Amino acid sequence: MKLENYLEKNKKKFRIFDFDETIVKLHLDWDIFRSGIKRIMSKYDLALVDKYEKEKLRGIDLINLGIQKYGYKYWKELIDFTLKFENENLTGETENPEIINFIKNNSNSYTFFIWSSNTFPTLENSLRRLKVLEAFEKIAARELYKLAKPYTDGFHVIFTDSAPTKHEILMVGDSGSDEKAAQSCGIDFYKVEYRFDL
Ligand SMILES: [Mg+2]
Repeated sequence: MKLENYLEKNKKKFRIFDFDETIVKLHLDWDIFRSGIKRIMSKYDLALVDKYEKEKLRGIDLINLGIQKYGYKYWKELIDFTLKFENENLTGETENPEIINFIKNNSNSYTFFIWSSNTFPTLENSLRRLKVLEAFEKIAARELYKLAKPYTDGFHVIFTDSAPTKHEILMVGDSGSDEKAAQSCGIDFYKVEYRFDL
């Protein structure tokens, strides 16, 4: 079902969008990212690196485990690496026209937010180029919160102490982590299934 049609049936005043593979698909070499986070974790916990490889954990699981175990020092190192990785390796992006047009056509009637695992410079550049930056009330970029989705830390960057009622909020995303994060926040989820042809 198209997002527009879904929203006709399920009125939601506040919409939180994931970014990568929801609004655009970033052209990034994730092998470079995976070897980077492995290299950082090797300095803290070789057993965890071993578990990551043997159990084929996702990068995001290794990151969240690392932050829970090693706190701010590890988080800071990881964020610095992510900023550098995105800055040096992004070669382009493919747009999701349905979502982008939806944002452009509806920004006056609704309040839009971003909750992303990408860093602010990447989000800002892209949203400015797409001419939708001004449509967003708040952007929960990766460097603004501690644990990544499916944990709810980013949600609390968007809604600090004055969260609206949960049934007024919709999360729009592409991944299982987005869906689980929405579930943990107690809000509805709309899955983007656009096929990005690179
Ligand atoms: Mg995504």
